[in-house]
Amino acid sequence: MKHLMRFQHLFVANKLVWNSRIVVPVGLCRGQWRPLCTRTTHNQEAHHYSTPVLKHLTSKIRSTGPISVAEYMREVLTNPVSGYYIHNDMLGAEGDFITSPEMSQIFGELLGIWCVSEWVAAGKPKEFQLVEFGPGRGSLISDVLRVLKQLKSVMGESAVSVHLVEVSPKLSKVQAQSLTGEDSETADNENDPVYRRGTTKTGHPVYWYRGMEDVPRGFSIYLAHEFFDALPIHKFQKTDKGWREMLIDIDPQVANKLRFVLSPSATLASSTLLQADEEREHVEVCPEGGVLVQRLTNRISEDGGAALIADYGHAGDKMDTFRGFHGHKLHDVLVAPGTADLTADVDFRYLRRMTDERVLTFGPITQQQYLQNMGIDVRLQVLLRSCTDSSTRKQLVQGFDMMMNPEKMGERFKFVALVPHSRIAVQTRGKKAEQKGAAALPVSGFSELGL
Ligand code: SAH
Repeated sequence: MKHLMRFQHLFVANKLVWNSRIVVPVGLCRGQWRPLCTRTTHNQEAHHYSTPVLKHLTSKIRSTGPISVAEYMREVLTNPVSGYYIHNDMLGAEGDFITSPEMSQIFGELLGIWCVSEWVAAGKPKEFQLVEFGPGRGSLISDVLRVLKQLKSVMGESAVSVHLVEVSPKLSKVQAQSLTGEDSETADNENDPVYRRGTTKTGHPVYWYRGMEDVPRGFSIYLAHEFFDALPIHKFQKTDKGWREMLIDIDPQVANKLRFVLSPSATLASSTLLQADEEREHVEVCPEGGVLVQRLTNRISEDGGAALIADYGHAGDKMDTFRGFHGHKLHDVLVAPGTADLTADVDFRYLRRMTDERVLTFGPITQQQYLQNMGIDVRLQVLLRSCTDSSTRKQLVQGFDMMMNPEKMGERFKFVALVPHSRIAVQTRGKKAEQKGAAALPVSGFSELGL
């Protein structure tokens, strides 16, 4: 814990520069919406509004039959020609939703401290890869890098590199602009696993990839904020005849309208993805999220490092959480596909099961608890003390409330950490670990900081 006290002290000494962010009117956060009970009534005419994704999907369904919800989500969000994420900058007041790193610099700063504390706990390996999945506008990683710069004395001669996994060419450009200014270039060859590279304003090399498998091996801290909730889910319904997969078909009554149907018999997904002891009536399973956690587990247990996953989520008890967002309002998931974000709460119990206990899992704990444990109150006070501008002060307080208030993002947003068994085993292995310079430290955020 001592090392974290030192970090906080450094923050006090070198007050961080406030980077201006959009003012977020309280009603504009997607964390505030409660799906299912308050679906907004959408414009009925919207059913008739055809989009390139809808045209593509209806011709596919006509030729090969109804598609799974997972295939629908994948096509709508990441189809390389017309997917929602491919050409849109959907974040912020002008977009469809807003996230914590876009609301407050404090969020990224505290996660930056977490990254450094895990690196310290691992014995300060010389090579240190920071990996982020789905970095949005690049705000979180910018804030993390600023913390690393502020903690220069702690970071010493370490070689930090930044690795971003991003499917969207449009957003990768926004990230490059924010992180590097003009100092990035795209690959000449489209088969190059690194499709963009550059140097950040903080002087770190930064690389962009389409998938995690392309990120080089080595000690890494992985961050995934609002990433798992964008990965495709399958939906299943318990019926008298057993589990049936929910599929998407064309509504025969209305032109350009899609509808949910139940598969008449078991599908490959319904016979392989469900747990024998499942007690819920309706279940959402995200196999891509499961595979990603298995890959993280392999990397972390073999190369060292840690992962922090933060998302809307639950511990395996929620049922129907699939929803759409457009212009900060709930949007019917089947209407005008490609124009709205689609998301489903993350099932952390399922992700934990996918680790097969080959790494240690901490959490899920609520965002309120995690940020409190990381010292958000102290950080807010420090920033308020050094800030005289009233609108900035208001922004700081509003951002804090949005992230911490249980009625807003405080409760529904959860944090989970994956760390190698060796991370905690150092406590009992004693001397050997001490020789390597590793210290037996608790995983910050998941136990209170003694500030
Ligand atoms: N983490 C950011 C953005 C969240 S939005 C924030 O909190 O502000 C989801 C992000 O994940 C976007 O950057 C989107 O383009 C990216 N993304 C979605 N699906 C992806 C996939 N399958 N592979 C890689 N990136 C993906």
